[in-house]
Amino acid sequence: GQCAAVCPTAAITIKKDLKGVWQALYAPNKRVVVQIAPAVRVAIGEEFGIAPGKNTIGKIYTALRMLGFDTVFDTSFSADLTVIEEANELVYKLENGEKKYPQGNTMPLFTSCCPAWVRFVETKYPELLPYVSTCKSPMEMFGAVLKEYYKPADAEAGMETISVAVMPCVAKKYEAARDEFCRNGVPDVDYVITTKELILMIKELGVQFQEIEPSAPDMPFSINSGAGVIFGVTGGVMEAALRHVAAKNNETLREIEYSGVRGLEGTKIAEISLGDKTLRVGVVNGLGNADTLIRKLQRGEEKLDFVEVMACPYGCIGGAGQPFGYRSVKEDRAQGMYKADKSAIVKRSCDNPTLINLYENGILKERSHELLHVHYGK
Ligand code: SF4
Repeated sequence: GQCAAVCPTAAITIKKDLKGVWQALYAPNKRVVVQIAPAVRVAIGEEFGIAPGKNTIGKIYTALRMLGFDTVFDTSFSADLTVIEEANELVYKLENGEKKYPQGNTMPLFTSCCPAWVRFVETKYPELLPYVSTCKSPMEMFGAVLKEYYKPADAEAGMETISVAVMPCVAKKYEAARDEFCRNGVPDVDYVITTKELILMIKELGVQFQEIEPSAPDMPFSINSGAGVIFGVTGGVMEAALRHVAAKNNETLREIEYSGVRGLEGTKIAEISLGDKTLRVGVVNGLGNADTLIRKLQRGEEKLDFVEVMACPYGCIGGAGQPFGYRSVKEDRAQGMYKADKSAIVKRSCDNPTLINLYENGILKERSHELLHVHYGK
């Protein structure tokens, strides 16, 4: 496409991501910022003798700083943004569906944060594109926010911000290179490295990962909710969105927890009552399972309001960029995600104070649509 001609992340350079990151880290006039996806923290330790599921996010922050990254952030922060934007879309669809959607609103709203799923819809079911959420993935939301945030400081200091994302995912490399995620010829995320690639970098550094002291993420995007963390496991995006739509009390949070959206099965259907409405939702991992569900929906054998699809088995914890692990390892990683949620002080995305500030006084004021949404297939 048009942008690929100038995008340094076009397909041919994808294999060179690690080299590009090292070069950026050594360049004097580059501010290298990095975000880490939720699923990375419960898997990376396995390569260093730490039990699967153990949350090592604090050690990852320190390791990245030792490698020379200037600021470190958690993609869970922007997952909170995704929750708010996507849940609003769901409410809008429930209230205005007949008017806004084709075919009398017969199809559910589908999540959009998995690039392999988006590609699947584009190639196999393009007629479903109007039903796919317009939300960018958390990685791309953060990419856009970070590039905007550092613009004034960079201009003043004659610096350039290079945005790196550590992802459990290989498809994220292709997502970052898409035309839709380049603005003025510059990609919002310059390099995506996988969990396995970060393991290589840490090994090259020659430090004992298991002995690294944990540290905290940088300001100002240092707070995230538990809802933003569970994005890494199948059912997590759904649960996070339902928390946002549902009433604010612990009883409701528990009801959602036990509604059937959790668990590693390939396809789950659940009903959740929200006030006077009952939502019927689907959670799918694996594109084969997505295919089966779509056919059912098309034949009218199933009717759903909202569907989460993740291409990888068990969701991002089972991503192709993660260390290899059998099912029991994936179960431990899933438990690690829910444990992080349990210990999070903020449970719902909309209670994240940093984020409220960003909407009310920060760069998202009047620019949330431009920076956080995307229209595929145009
Ligand atoms: Fe990537 Fe797999 Fe997660 Fe999709 S489910 S975003 S392909 S790791």
